[in-house]
Amino acid sequence: MDFLEAYMDMKTLQSFLSLVFLSAIVLGITELVIHHYYKKIRNKGERGMTLFSLLIAAVFVNLFGFVFVPLSIGFLAVSASSYALLDLGGTGSIISWVAGLMIYELSHWFIHMASHKVRLLWCMHAPHHAPEDMNILVGHNLSVFEITYLPIFLGAVPALLGVDPIIIVTINVLDQIWNIVIHCSADMKFGFLRHFIITPDHHRVHHSKNLVYMDTNYTTLVLLWDTILGTRVDLKEDEQPIYGITRDTKTGSYIDTHFGEFRELWQDIKSAPDLKAILGYICLPPGWSPDKSKINTVKTQKIAAGLMKV
Ligand SMILES: [Zn+2]
Ligand SMILES: [Zn+2]
Repeated sequence: MDFLEAYMDMKTLQSFLSLVFLSAIVLGITELVIHHYYKKIRNKGERGMTLFSLLIAAVFVNLFGFVFVPLSIGFLAVSASSYALLDLGGTGSIISWVAGLMIYELSHWFIHMASHKVRLLWCMHAPHHAPEDMNILVGHNLSVFEITYLPIFLGAVPALLGVDPIIIVTINVLDQIWNIVIHCSADMKFGFLRHFIITPDHHRVHHSKNLVYMDTNYTTLVLLWDTILGTRVDLKEDEQPIYGITRDTKTGSYIDTHFGEFRELWQDIKSAPDLKAILGYICLPPGWSPDKSKINTVKTQKIAAGLMKV
């Protein structure tokens, strides 16, 4: 596809993405007002923090547009498509759309799993998990660092694997719309569809710090890859989700929520005995320690509790 033609189509899809973002803000604030009216707000500070986080992200993206526009999913997809390794066909074929969705979701599964298993990436992803309530504003409580590298995996990687950029951005628009649904606090049931698509219940499991639920349900649209790759866990009736992260977090504080994990990583690096330990702290899962007797990752905890085999 001609670069300019693709870019113009992309601009239309990107404007639609901005509309979805605006809708998320309006719906998020509407949900906040409803929760206030029905006295359902447990932690006013946390709600304030998520609103502030949204404001910071919007200001940051606008101020540093010269960084974020070239790093946007659409721009990266169009640029990377010139170097595509495969040709999966254009927008006219249903197979291209199905293959596109599968590749987009696999790449999303991979970077989301890595964001939980590599400590430096966890430092950037943990702010999204810190809130102790689930609501639409939590869906947009993202680290400004995370939004610089996610588009590489959601835009450039699928394009390199041959997915048409228009398909990539259309799926991303759907992903952004569905992101509002899966973070919404309303009780929504999806009948038989819950066996195929990610529902709010699946994503509530992902946001929980109950050991059995931790590091599961990484995708956000369909259940395919979590099922195949063994990371799918459905909400259990006898295990109510407890939202948040295991670190004692002041969720009303933007600084503690968004930078607290970096502070703890820095403390560990400062106490590391050698370079190997420093690299271990940065690249291995949260809870890893050079002192084997102190290792306390989700995996070791699950093995100790009999939830996972060695
Ligand atoms: Zn996550
Ligand atoms: Zn989420």
